[in-house]
Amino acid sequence: MTPLTLPPGLTEKDFNDALAEFRRIVGDQYVFTGDALSAYRDPYSIEDDSKFSTPAAVAPDTAEQVQAVVKVANQYGVPLWTISAGKNHGYGGAAPRMAGTVVLDLARMNRILEINVDSGYALLEPGVTYFDLYRYIQEKGLKLWLDVPDPGWGSVVGNALERGIGYTPYGDHFMMQCGMEVVLANGEVMRTGMGAMPKSNAWQLFKYGYGPYADGIFTQSNYGIVTKMGIWLMPEPPRYRPYMISFQREEDLEQVIDVLRPLKVNNIIQNAATLRSLLLVAGINATRSQYHSGPGPIPDSAAKKIMADQDIGMWNFYGALYGPPPLMDVLWGITRDAFASIPGARFFTPEERRHDNDVLKHRALTMRGVPRLTEYSFVNWVGGGGHIGFSPVSPINGKEAMQQYIMVRDRLAQYGFDYLSVFAIGWRELHHVIELIFDRRDPEEKRKAYEVFGIMVREAAEAGYGEYRTHISFMDQVAKTYSWNDHAQLKFQQTLKDALDPKGILSPGKQGIWPARYRQGG
Ligand code: ADP
Repeated sequence: MTPLTLPPGLTEKDFNDALAEFRRIVGDQYVFTGDALSAYRDPYSIEDDSKFSTPAAVAPDTAEQVQAVVKVANQYGVPLWTISAGKNHGYGGAAPRMAGTVVLDLARMNRILEINVDSGYALLEPGVTYFDLYRYIQEKGLKLWLDVPDPGWGSVVGNALERGIGYTPYGDHFMMQCGMEVVLANGEVMRTGMGAMPKSNAWQLFKYGYGPYADGIFTQSNYGIVTKMGIWLMPEPPRYRPYMISFQREEDLEQVIDVLRPLKVNNIIQNAATLRSLLLVAGINATRSQYHSGPGPIPDSAAKKIMADQDIGMWNFYGALYGPPPLMDVLWGITRDAFASIPGARFFTPEERRHDNDVLKHRALTMRGVPRLTEYSFVNWVGGGGHIGFSPVSPINGKEAMQQYIMVRDRLAQYGFDYLSVFAIGWRELHHVIELIFDRRDPEEKRKAYEVFGIMVREAAEAGYGEYRTHISFMDQVAKTYSWNDHAQLKFQQTLKDALDPKGILSPGKQGIWPARYRQGG
């Protein structure tokens, strides 16, 4: 069992007094200590767990309770780490950045406050998971689609706040966010955008309101606790056609990405499509040991066998068409012709895939917003499935994608890891999300994963590639790579932090932003 770390600077008595206050606010059964805290560990930590341990968790049920908890936290100097569903796996899960931080668990605040079908939006509390919202929409027979990440057990609010992605045309979750209610570090509650006007009925319709636009500073941030959020939902289209295109050669990556760019920038590809590497796709249906038992990354001969067995390519593009059939026919014609210029490209519909458990059959559901867990099984590619996400951003440019791919593939190979990745195609950029898969029972594997990850962050930054999001173990390192003009942005973020949260109680260290209290001397 990990030894208990108390919040820095607190005596055991102060800590216990604060917990007693929390109990008074939320009820005894919603303050967790001891064994119950195992739910707040990062299951995929690659460092000593004690670095991210929490001494307690508190689970309020209303924004008023959140305000009361924050006031007590200020009074005693108790740091709080906010989570919604706590499934931020690969980036730290529910665990806090700093040992001794109490987890503020908002899972109980799971009310669907409003759904407007005509205007296509929902107003949600943070604990509403994709599964909850999907079930609600199905039960009511509403003609709306969600946009879900894979897997779908997280919360709509937590994912949008982390600027996560999905796979329908609404795949950029923060872009689809509209209006927030936020409890600030001083215990006050505010509403953003049109929500700041008491009688406005456009809170979930117009994002910007009046004056400086605030919502962005509450994403990937420790400036506030979001207690309500609006999210735009896609009207169910008349028809839908998912497809897959496989490419046979490693070096095809360059051409695939260059073909993609004009298709995406001109909106011919309607959705947040993805290009998936061989092993990420293969890992849904197979494990490494079926193909290779020795150390080091899998050899080319095994890769060829996997391609043949699963009828997949070195690279596999998953996209979808949405709308009336004549529109889809036109878009598909342009897309197909463009990709057909790549030798060996093969085109599939879900019906044309042989295996029942084929990835296109799963993605056909994901790309229409059905939340699932199936495609998470790639984490079992090696035994003892652990994973951590390395996620640099680049232009949609073939040469740069190739450069990133070779850089990461070779570094991982040097440390004995396989390359499993997805290139998620954004509006103007690629999120190159590499899943570093390791055996979490093996301390040496974890040590190697930690070492190679740090090297990759440094090398990516030297080449101009920054992570869009990262694991708690690397938040400081990644923050320091955004260093233009003597870290001007980080200094601005720290200035805001100190103004909004002078006692430094909200999520210290989140995204490398430390309050003055913990910066000094460190
Ligand atoms: P998910 O809902 O996808 O499981 P988490 O609950 O793990 O996501 O949240 C991911 C991260 O987003 C957290 O570590 C936290 O930093 C931030 N976060 C989550 N919910 C909130 C919230 N309601 N207010 C502010 N930040 C939040």
